[in-house]
Amino acid sequence: MDVSGSLVDRFGRLIDYLRISLTERCDLRCAYCRAAEGTCVSRADVLTADDILAIAEAAVRVGVKRIRLTGGEPLLRSDLADIVSHVSRLPGVEDLSLTTNGQALASQAERLAAAGLMRGNVSLDSLDPQVYSAITGGGDLAAVLRGLDAAFAVGLAPVKVNVVLDCPAALERAPLSAFIRLIARRPVHVRFIEAMPTCSHVTYLPAARLLDELSRRGSLVSVAGPAGGGPARYYRVDDAPGTIGVIAPITEPFCSQCNRLRVSARGELMPCLFSPTGLPLAEALGGSQPTDDIVALLREAAAVKPRRYGDIALPARIHAMHVVGG
Ligand code: SAM
Repeated sequence: MDVSGSLVDRFGRLIDYLRISLTERCDLRCAYCRAAEGTCVSRADVLTADDILAIAEAAVRVGVKRIRLTGGEPLLRSDLADIVSHVSRLPGVEDLSLTTNGQALASQAERLAAAGLMRGNVSLDSLDPQVYSAITGGGDLAAVLRGLDAAFAVGLAPVKVNVVLDCPAALERAPLSAFIRLIARRPVHVRFIEAMPTCSHVTYLPAARLLDELSRRGSLVSVAGPAGGGPARYYRVDDAPGTIGVIAPITEPFCSQCNRLRVSARGELMPCLFSPTGLPLAEALGGSQPTDDIVALLREAAAVKPRRYGDIALPARIHAMHVVGG
């Protein structure tokens, strides 16, 4: 496809990455992710597997090459393997990944890999079972670790782990040393992410604090990141097979490199994670020419994509992360 057919926004950013939220529901309750109040949209109003395939098909037509399935918790969708199977077979999809809390990954990894899933990111905020359970509102750390093992066993590589730095005490609660032991044992890429302010959450720990702590262990050795690109910077620690990474959307925003649009589980197309409203994909899906209409909305979303999320005032950021899809 020539570049004129691709999605390029008004700031010259090439949009070739789509995140699709499969559900607002989640089996965990991380405070930084959920709306303080709020119920999830009913199942009947969530995009169907056919809707998702139609959106992915249209996106690929305008040059989208990477697709991530997220939520809510995508493993809660009973038709997830079907969705993966159809989307992964679309010509032009070079990278199909999943973000999950890993609670049910052990039992689903093999089926998903066989269906065409290429890799996975697993959220894991602490390696202490009690702390993990407290952060997640009852999550089972052992289940996530079994999920990581299963992901490696079926070749969902590279496996990345997301740790959200959601408060000033984040590193006391989830010590770096524990994650360094994890990357010494497995080729996993652990990324510490500054919590983004949302309607229900405002605190974070600057990623620089993590880097200070890492540098106290020796010099900081930057390394190229694993496949999958993205805004993380990675560091090698001793001879560990894995790496430590940081993602600093607050202290070092990377909006100038943003290459993505998002689709919420209700079928809104979000130009930016913090867009107060989305474009109505769900309506386009019901029309007589859905592919053309979806393509038109993708172009419109690129056209109105803000230069940076900071241009959207905090009170207008109405979405919790589980709603728009992290
Ligand atoms: N349920 C899945 C999971 O737990 O990974 C996928 C959805 S979750 C919204 C996707 C990612 O967004 C997770 O890695 C989560 O930690 C991250 N996230 C949620 N709220 C966030 C916030 N306020 N700032 C930064 N990352 C956040």
